[in-house]
Amino acid sequence: MKRIYIPLILLMLLLFVSCKPEEPLVKQDFALATVVKITLRDHATEELMDQLFARLREIEERMSMVKKESDVYKLNHAQGEALQVHEDTYYVLQKAKEYFELTGGYFDPTLGSVVELWKIGTEEAAIPSSEELEKALTHVDGRQIELLDNLQVRIPQGAVLDLGAIAKGYAADEMAKIAKEEGVTSAIFDLGGNVLTLGDKEGKKFRIGIQEPFSEILRGSPFAILLLSNQTVVTSGDYERFFEEDGKRYHHILDFRTGYPVENELASVSIITDSSIRADALSTAVYAMGREKGKAFIESQENLEAIFVTRNKKVSVTTGLSESFILEDSSYHQE
Ligand code: ADP
Ligand code: MG
Repeated sequence: MKRIYIPLILLMLLLFVSCKPEEPLVKQDFALATVVKITLRDHATEELMDQLFARLREIEERMSMVKKESDVYKLNHAQGEALQVHEDTYYVLQKAKEYFELTGGYFDPTLGSVVELWKIGTEEAAIPSSEELEKALTHVDGRQIELLDNLQVRIPQGAVLDLGAIAKGYAADEMAKIAKEEGVTSAIFDLGGNVLTLGDKEGKKFRIGIQEPFSEILRGSPFAILLLSNQTVVTSGDYERFFEEDGKRYHHILDFRTGYPVENELASVSIITDSSIRADALSTAVYAMGREKGKAFIESQENLEAIFVTRNKKVSVTTGLSESFILEDSSYHQE
């Protein structure tokens, strides 16, 4: 009897160990002006993790407004001359122009001249004079970006590119692409308010928290949960970066018509789709459009879902989310 049981127990133990899911590998670092956290749930190696962060840094090095070696910095200082850029930058500029057209300018990658005046997110943030704003606005128009042959790009003198509302989405897509190629079937890429899920969690959708717009704690205080698999959720809101003066909040999403921070009833907008670059550009644009215009825009597009949160805590979600959106905070009212 004994002789039979011991090998049997060993076999069962072996089976149990081999069936046990891999420990997820998690790494967190600061990049693209935000905290980036990657969770790999299978095929996870330190080497792959390093490769993913290296790709992230590469994109940052090419698209930063402040790093002197970046394509964006060079274009902003090229005095109207054409320059050859990396294909990453060329691709993101192509997409940026596409979203500029699609949103009627609510997403505008040439708002840099205005962004530079406000300095929101820095110690020197202050309200610019109306003359300064007016002058800066003359350089704002996405159509000015000329995409030429051989990866050459030209912007007019005075125009300033800012890819801050789209680069994180691109980085998330690119990291997920690499992970997928390396065999990963389950992962989360979290770049601040920009989350991309690859696959699912042992057959169940990932539970992704949506940031509470009025919370003092910026990360990790969700008011709702979204069930996602192979999808991205990108949130834009007035709480990410702002300063206050005379009791008024000046935040980082700007109106291309006035150069002032957008003022409407929205506290945040989350966009859900399968491409993170698209979700990133459109979350900024739809936030800037406001609730009514934003909703009509979402409905006019294929494969695009959204969560709207107003300042008086009204929540509405598009029909495609009815099964996957779970409101957790009872101080909110879902319409
Ligand atoms: P976050 O950076 O908080 O994720 P967004 O993706 O909405 O938020 O991007 C906001 C950033 O994009 C701003 O900090 C600014 O650099 C730039 N920006 C501001 N307003 C616009 C706009 N209307 N269109 C495109 N870019 C914008
Ligand atoms: Mg954005």
